[in-house]
Amino acid sequence: MTTNYYIPPEQISGSYVVLPAEEAKHAGQVLRKRVGDVITAVDGVGGWYAVELTKVEKRRVAGMIRETKREVGEPEFQLTVGLGLLKNQRRFEMFVEKAVELGVSRIIPLTTARTEKSSHRTERMHKVLVAAMKQCGRSRLVQLDAVTGWDDVLAMGGFEQKFVCHEKANSGDVILGALDPRSTSALILIGPEGGFSEKEVDSAVERSFMSVSLGSRRLRAETAGIAACAGVMLKAAQIALRS
Ligand code: SAH
Repeated sequence: MTTNYYIPPEQISGSYVVLPAEEAKHAGQVLRKRVGDVITAVDGVGGWYAVELTKVEKRRVAGMIRETKREVGEPEFQLTVGLGLLKNQRRFEMFVEKAVELGVSRIIPLTTARTEKSSHRTERMHKVLVAAMKQCGRSRLVQLDAVTGWDDVLAMGGFEQKFVCHEKANSGDVILGALDPRSTSALILIGPEGGFSEKEVDSAVERSFMSVSLGSRRLRAETAGIAACAGVMLKAAQIALRS
């Protein structure tokens, strides 16, 4: 498998790039790259590069960009997912990893009436985001918002469609059927382990969210998140192919 390196924009000046310390170590010491080797890299803001290495030293690996592409691996559909903070951060991290692979643009960790935590380790999350971006061949780093409260997420604008996933939603309202084929962006909210309170679902519906089902089984929160992302992104990919 080709290793994609992450070279953030501040490490790039014109065609000259310097790998960040961790990536330099990986290229030089682990994969034993040499001067003249060509590696592929992404900058996290939509840039993809083929880079010819011009310097490979223990702490410093640098090169010149030989080819540039834009938006490699990036979907047109902009999906934002809000997921309640989970007791076990590893479950949330698993969701983050899968959401990146499935093509989500933005993740909002939520505090709700039934969340039992109010923070998480952002540095760890950032590492998961970077690793998943490189692994699946995307060129944009998924945006991870600060932990957000219920009223604030309901008030967020800029989405063509808004859904709140609720296990008690009418089973006919499966999210796929509710997705408008003409829309290009959506916000989906998923509750923590204990689910949403009826009051939360009602307040979302009042703010023009559609209450939707993910099928007749009660899914764990992170599974619900992954299922929603997979469903919407696959449908969006199919619509994009047809148009
Ligand atoms: N209220 C629950 C389960 C919560 S599951 C309980 O009995 O403990 C966590 C979250 O996953 C829910 O808030 C919802 O957003 C989502 N979810 C799980 N299964 C779902 C389904 N079948 N349809 C829609 N959303 C679902």
